[in-house]
Amino acid sequence: MKVLVLNGGSSSLKAVLRDLPEGPLPDDAPQPLWEANVDWGRHPGRALIRVRRGSETARESDTAIRNPDEVLRPVIETMWSGEAAALRGPEEVRVVGHRVVHGGKAFRDTTRITPEVRAEIRKYCEFAPEHNRLELEAIEIAEAIFGAAVPQVAVFDTAFHATLPLAAQVYAGPYEWFEKGIRRYGFHGISHQYAWQRAARILGGDTTRVRLVSCHLGNGASLAAILGGVSVDTTMGFTPLDGLMMGTRSGSIDPGILIYLVRHLNYRADELDRVLNQESGLKGVSGISADMREILAAIESGDARARLAFDVYAHRLCREIGGMVAALGGLDVLLFTAGIGENCAPLRAAVCERMAYLGVKLDAGLNARPRMDSDIAEAGSAVRVLVIHADEDWQVARECHRLLGGGGALAG
Ligand code: ADP
Repeated sequence: MKVLVLNGGSSSLKAVLRDLPEGPLPDDAPQPLWEANVDWGRHPGRALIRVRRGSETARESDTAIRNPDEVLRPVIETMWSGEAAALRGPEEVRVVGHRVVHGGKAFRDTTRITPEVRAEIRKYCEFAPEHNRLELEAIEIAEAIFGAAVPQVAVFDTAFHATLPLAAQVYAGPYEWFEKGIRRYGFHGISHQYAWQRAARILGGDTTRVRLVSCHLGNGASLAAILGGVSVDTTMGFTPLDGLMMGTRSGSIDPGILIYLVRHLNYRADELDRVLNQESGLKGVSGISADMREILAAIESGDARARLAFDVYAHRLCREIGGMVAALGGLDVLLFTAGIGENCAPLRAAVCERMAYLGVKLDAGLNARPRMDSDIAEAGSAVRVLVIHADEDWQVARECHRLLGGGGALAG
């Protein structure tokens, strides 16, 4: 069965087509038949498009655009027309899966998209305007291309955290906030859930009592406290701005700072949004870059602000991990995933060193050059330390396969 996954961000869209067996799925993601990336975040008014068939070299183009929607349809059509064509036509696509960032209160699980589901996703545009609007656009374009008979499936980044206990969901403001939907939802759920499933395979045996902290450290970053596969706490909240320091986002800060900025420096909502989402984090503190590789390079050349940015990042991370460990009542597994989690050995070393009090012992050799999806702790460590390659698109494809009952009739 040909499964197309559409994963839209605020400044890019990734599309991946895979051919999955009707029956049980392999553990590892099969090579995509076709994939495309559209990036309109780097240069205003332009979209950089990369399309690849199988393992061929990607074909790149750069187009002027007024609106990203204009290019999505032609890019999807390269799946069956032009040089990178991998299908005879759109009718070969069996299901389209969408990563949807905000599912609000309504969605606790992967769901087939109906007009009602679409209306519900639209409601959460207010909470995640950069994301949900583009996702709705992608759903509409896919329906126009593939027709209403091809099922479209929404996999929500919030759904994995629907199990959070009430005490972890409720912000300590007036109770009316909670009633109005202002509560901790948590994000990166697709990644945290996938990482948990990979971890459970590596650990083997009975994992129902395993206490695991998953550190998704990409441009955005969040932690999940996972008990036997169930999310019991997480650092992102009502929006993806809460919690850890990130590439350009501040993470949690004293809300009194916002009152001060509004009252004394005349900040308005748009400016607060920009400064907290785009001008803070690694970029804000270092004044150099949001990219951890550039921070590490600047540290090498003796830049004090880059050092400070790294130290604040590690400090905030350790502090929040402490909170997750408290939510779990102890720690069996610490897991690193996404760009920084998978690749930044100095950060993993700094974090694990500070967590020696919990019996974490990192194997320095394995940490320096980890195999993906492996354990990098010393044999005698009280806590396993795993590095897992993040693959949200594969997880969305697996969810589509599960919802279709392994290729049969669409259940649920
Ligand atoms: P996104 O959240 O956009 O999917 P990624 O998961 O790709 O982002 O993570 C991007 C981050 O990973 C960037 O900060 C980048 O610098 C960092 N990163 C990638 N490779 C390395 C590396 N070798 N060392 C340190 N950081 C890295």
